[in-house]
Amino acid sequence: MSAKHQTAEYRRNARIVRQRVTSAHRAGRPVSCWRCNRPIQPGQPYDVGHLPGAVGSALTELAPEHRHKTGACVGNRSAGAKLGAAITNARHTPTIPTGKATTWRL
Ligand SMILES: [Zn+2]
Repeated sequence: MSAKHQTAEYRRNARIVRQRVTSAHRAGRPVSCWRCNRPIQPGQPYDVGHLPGAVGSALTELAPEHRHKTGACVGNRSAGAKLGAAITNARHTPTIPTGKATTWRL
């Protein structure tokens, strides 16, 4: 979970999105996943995610999405893991020499 999920703004607005989803699900209505545009059925796990291009955690920048990979949807957790790995790998400095290989005489 990144720092933007720790802010008071995210927590406040994510709570509002969850209340809206809970309300729809209690009425038996699915909500749309912003990632795949398919329904998130009542009882199906979901996360409150940031929309593409979100710079903060305003209510208009958050939306429900499938938590796990489901059919055509990659799911929030898988997408987040790939993003985190890309960030980590970009920071990583290789420690293995990439120059000419050393050879030894036998
Ligand atoms: Zn989805």
